[in-house]
Amino acid sequence: MPAPGSRHLTRQIVIAMLAGIVLGVILNRLGTADWVQLVLVDGLLYVVGSVFVAALKMMVVPLVFVSLVAGVTSLSDLNALGRIGIKSLALYLATTAIAVTIALTLAGIVGPGQGFNAGSTAASFTGKPAPPLTQVLIDMVPTNPVAAMAEGNMLQIIVFALLFGVAVTMSGARGKHVLNFFGDLDVVIMHMVEWIMRLAPYGVFALITRTFASQGLDILLPLAAYFLTLTGALALQVFGVYPLLLKLLASLNPLTFLRKMRDPAAFAFSTASSGATIPVTLRTVEYKMGVKNSVASFTVPMGATINMDGTAMMQGVATVFIANVYGIHLEFTDYLLVVLTATLASIGTAAIPAVGLVTLTMVLGQVGLPVEGIALIIGVDRLLDMMRTVTNVTGDCAVSCIVAKSEKALDQAVFDDLSAGSVEAATRRPLSTHSAS
Ligand code: ASP
Repeated sequence: MPAPGSRHLTRQIVIAMLAGIVLGVILNRLGTADWVQLVLVDGLLYVVGSVFVAALKMMVVPLVFVSLVAGVTSLSDLNALGRIGIKSLALYLATTAIAVTIALTLAGIVGPGQGFNAGSTAASFTGKPAPPLTQVLIDMVPTNPVAAMAEGNMLQIIVFALLFGVAVTMSGARGKHVLNFFGDLDVVIMHMVEWIMRLAPYGVFALITRTFASQGLDILLPLAAYFLTLTGALALQVFGVYPLLLKLLASLNPLTFLRKMRDPAAFAFSTASSGATIPVTLRTVEYKMGVKNSVASFTVPMGATINMDGTAMMQGVATVFIANVYGIHLEFTDYLLVVLTATLASIGTAAIPAVGLVTLTMVLGQVGLPVEGIALIIGVDRLLDMMRTVTNVTGDCAVSCIVAKSEKALDQAVFDDLSAGSVEAATRRPLSTHSAS
């Protein structure tokens, strides 16, 4: 179906993002009058941005639960579920390990933090311990699925939805009614997501303008080496590693993939939360990249929860930076420990803004670096958080495509069609979408 609306909307979102950056920087430079701050920055922009993020978050739990149940029940072969799970877990861990290795290597070459004057930043940071991995595993099973949904605990929701979906499949003719119901419900909920998509240019504009208005670019200067090293590492991952993996493992055109990433990238950048971006990620992966619901409904929420390549990269560069500032020499084994800890820590990192700093305490602790070092980088973290969230979400989409291709659950025609996935086409999805993959 021709879909001019989709590209039009994407263009509007990108323009809104750029306009927000420009206006935000101008507001910050000029120093706003009290009434501008009150009425515009803390008034209109704050309300529009917050309502937009709240609307996105509103969709996450119902969408993940319904979509995952619909996805599992549409699998004709339950063994596929195990295969999809193992492949995506392996790829998520592998991409994270590659990401930290790149980050550490680049930081090793650039050496951010050498000669840094620690007195130039006044922020303070008190560490909050990250949960141990054993607890993460235990907590995956919800004692109360309703509470899990109320709290938005993604791993618990995934576990319950998977079990529920398998039970539906095994319940014969009665299960069939439930299967049809969830398939239809999924389309209805996606319809609501489309509404939010239409509001995206306004929401993105408000969020970005406010962030840049309150966060000037001056704070970047003393930390330029740290900032640029991490930005370079993130760019290598997004424009180098994922395209290469897509080409090598799935024979997919990386440029087409990157072009289709614009919507989720803009959402991830403006919200700094891969969790809040789930509705857009899922929509993009299914409707624009052609990944069947049976794969996407699992890989996307799972990725948003456990795959944090950008976050792990920040932890790698931050470790080297803090070691340099404090003049502590890291051994090769320390680097290996950072790769391992940052990879595992990303599993326990919630998909919300700034949480990567919390798990950074775990990584620093492992190699004996002072946790207070985090105070040095806190000032520039918001902007980097926005960028690493884009990386996190791009990784989720790339792995979803690779797993889908290997499971023959990727519609190549949709992937190749640059205008696939328009808002209009999406809400008129045929009933057969949930047929066996
Ligand atoms: N904001 C990141 C995300 O939601 C997590 C982090 O790095 O703090 O993906």
